[in-house]
Amino acid sequence: MGITDLLRGFGSLFFPNACLNCRRPVARREALLCLPCEADLPVIDHWRLPENEIHDRLAGRLPICHGIAAYTFREGNVCQQLIHAMKYHNRPDVGRLLGERLGEILARVAGLDDLTGVVPVPIHDRRRQERGYNQAEMIAEGVARVLDRPTYPAALRRTDFRGSQTRRGKLERLENVRDSFTTGRGDFTGAHLLLVDDVMTTGATLDFCGNALLDAHTDLRLSVATLALVER
Ligand SMILES: [Zn+2]
Repeated sequence: MGITDLLRGFGSLFFPNACLNCRRPVARREALLCLPCEADLPVIDHWRLPENEIHDRLAGRLPICHGIAAYTFREGNVCQQLIHAMKYHNRPDVGRLLGERLGEILARVAGLDDLTGVVPVPIHDRRRQERGYNQAEMIAEGVARVLDRPTYPAALRRTDFRGSQTRRGKLERLENVRDSFTTGRGDFTGAHLLLVDDVMTTGATLDFCGNALLDAHTDLRLSVATLALVER
């Protein structure tokens, strides 16, 4: 933890309603950002398109009905600060609130009205113990609340990866998919599930999770949604 993080940590003790990007006071904790930082948050409006960047990144790997991301993730931008606060500053509430924002976008997408439910990308048990929560599950809860659908956090499990990493591309290894995914509880025959994660880079995680679900359930349709899409 750097000195800046440390000072920000102290700052949040004295100013609990601080902008997650610049630390200026905000009226309500739920606002997450001050107005200027909110205006700097790069919103993606590709939800209007039937095929977009998400489809492109998953092309040939994972068949999806809809793919939506809310914000562009860039080194040092407001989106990165939100993700950082959600993952490393013990703020599961940030995940739920951002999930609700993602849900508001998804509610406008034609063709998602037949969704069965929302499946968060799992994190490893070790990681969950360190962090205290799975941020993707928090996002999924926010999404599910807005869309009025159930979440299925036990539909996928993340286990230690057994096998060679070397056959995967460099970018996929960077995305840290050292674990493998297995399906857990639930029969989703004929269902339409929304797979939810925090950040999409190459799409390797969504690829592995989505294909595990498709292999396990007959006639399953999948859509994916992430809070952030890493710019490339
Ligand atoms: Zn701000």
